[in-house]
Amino acid sequence: MAVLPICITGEPVLHRPASPVETIDEGIRALVANMIETMHEAPGVGLAAPQVGVDARLFVYDWTDEDDVRWHGVAINPELLVSPPPLGEPDDDLDSEGCLSVPGERFPLRRSERALLRATDLDGKAFEIDAQGWLARIFQHEFDHLEGVLYVDRLAHPHGKAALKAIRRQSWGGPGQSWMPGIDDLDA
Ligand code: ZN
Repeated sequence: MAVLPICITGEPVLHRPASPVETIDEGIRALVANMIETMHEAPGVGLAAPQVGVDARLFVYDWTDEDDVRWHGVAINPELLVSPPPLGEPDDDLDSEGCLSVPGERFPLRRSERALLRATDLDGKAFEIDAQGWLARIFQHEFDHLEGVLYVDRLAHPHGKAALKAIRRQSWGGPGQSWMPGIDDLDA
């Protein structure tokens, strides 16, 4: 297994819809193993294939909830049904979201409280998870990646503007930039 470089916003693969996975072969298995290692090293609670430069509709996730239940796995060719997002302003703390493709930044974003994930696992078996709270947020965030959408694209005023400024300050937003978990410390 290997840690993979993570693409930074501006890399075209992050900004277009990903292609369905046709066959779960050795290549996909190796990709998923490497993505899990990369997510842990980053560290993050989710990682989508486009973030490691691969045009494929799959993401991995690993999150332990308030009741100490660990949710982790891979979602291949997922579908996501979401409840209507709540109205009003996002909470600066409770709704604070980040992304490994916009490393070191966080901005508040309202997300739906509930999301039903339907996907296939590595054995080609269909599964369903009725997620709430932060897990529902993770699924929405990762599913967005497969549609070519980053959370910063969804930010409301004035956070969207602040995110654009932060991206410009880092000289991101163009193709060809990535960072290496475990080597680059972009939080510093
Ligand atoms: Zn992300």
